[in-house]
Amino acid sequence: MSDTPPLRGRQLLAIPGPTNIPDRILRAMDRPATDFNHPDFLSVQEGVFDGLRRIFRTEGEVYAYAASGRGAWEAAFVNTLSPGDRVLVPETGAFSLWWEELAGDLGLVPERMAGDWRHGPDPNAVEDRLRRDSAGEIKAVCLVHNETATGIASRVADIRGAIDAAGHGALYMIDTISSLASLPFEMDAWGVDVAVGGSQKGLMMPPGLGFVAAGPKAIRAAESAGLTRSYWEWKALRRRGGRLGFTSTSPVHLVYGLAEAIAMLEEEGLENVFARHRRLGGATRAAIAAWSGNGVGPELLALDPREHSDSVSTVLLPEGHDAEAVRQVTATRFNTLLGGGLRKLQGRAFRIAHMGDLNEGMLLGMLAVVEMALDLQGVPRAGGGVEAAMRALVGED
Ligand SMILES: *Cc1c(COP(=O)(O)O)cnc(C)c1O
Repeated sequence: MSDTPPLRGRQLLAIPGPTNIPDRILRAMDRPATDFNHPDFLSVQEGVFDGLRRIFRTEGEVYAYAASGRGAWEAAFVNTLSPGDRVLVPETGAFSLWWEELAGDLGLVPERMAGDWRHGPDPNAVEDRLRRDSAGEIKAVCLVHNETATGIASRVADIRGAIDAAGHGALYMIDTISSLASLPFEMDAWGVDVAVGGSQKGLMMPPGLGFVAAGPKAIRAAESAGLTRSYWEWKALRRRGGRLGFTSTSPVHLVYGLAEAIAMLEEEGLENVFARHRRLGGATRAAIAAWSGNGVGPELLALDPREHSDSVSTVLLPEGHDAEAVRQVTATRFNTLLGGGLRKLQGRAFRIAHMGDLNEGMLLGMLAVVEMALDLQGVPRAGGGVEAAMRALVGED
């Protein structure tokens, strides 16, 4: 027998994916298996594809896979690009680097636009780089909308403006995995050609579904794209009768779950979902700003208020303090899971996710746990973090 008694109550999940799965979604998936060609199931599946187009805000196609988000990254590339194509990847944090590395693995030629992980890409710098590409070698600009490692929400519409100002024809590809159904995203209105999504973040679902939404320019690009593909091939996703489905067996239970998730999001109203994330994100930042005091304590990594993510906040610890030790205390003593620092932020930062099925009381619990863990680890901080979050939540700021 272990010396420490088991932890009780529901674990507080402050990791940026997978996020809390609402009981309604769990119940919707708690059912026997069924034939994935049964008409009753197919009508649910078709409803899900229609719902996804409303969530991506697109009149284009949404392709779905039984895959992680990375599978969807790969699907986006192999359906639209050819070996040796150059792709421009603004560096926003670890996920942008992993996406860039995946491009290289597939035989593309990634070009990184260096970033400092505390700011999103400058639209003017994107415009300058594209203007210099008079030969049109860059075939895609690949931007992570909400960089889950750094808590930076890049200015997708402004960067579209930069591509247009340069008169450049590259495909505009956006990773929306940790922004979809949490932050406003307007695929068609913002001129996005390809948007990649996943089930386990704002959609409140288990991991296991990856999405690629494609506009007309991307669908045309697929006609001549030369990268090798089979499982990911867009044409293979079209069922008899022309409706979209999955390659081979549908992940039936995930489809039932997603139908429920879309229903929940639309009952709340996407605008209200975004407003709730803004409220929770603002309260989290109020707490972090209070902890910082005059720069003695932990601070928010993202520096530009226009780019503060409302779904995840990355907290940088003062020099000499170990973020992993703080996470260890929240997990083992308070049954609360924080996200860790990724790549060069490993040990230097932790992440508080405020994404998906979450309310004020849950957030305040998470912030109070962080305060206790900081104190137990002897991390210097100013007081009043939870109080500042409470004031922000009742609109007294
Ligand atoms: C979580 C995440 C991914 C990766 O998704 P997996 O399902 O783990 O492959 C990619 N991009 C961003 C921005 C993410 O937050």
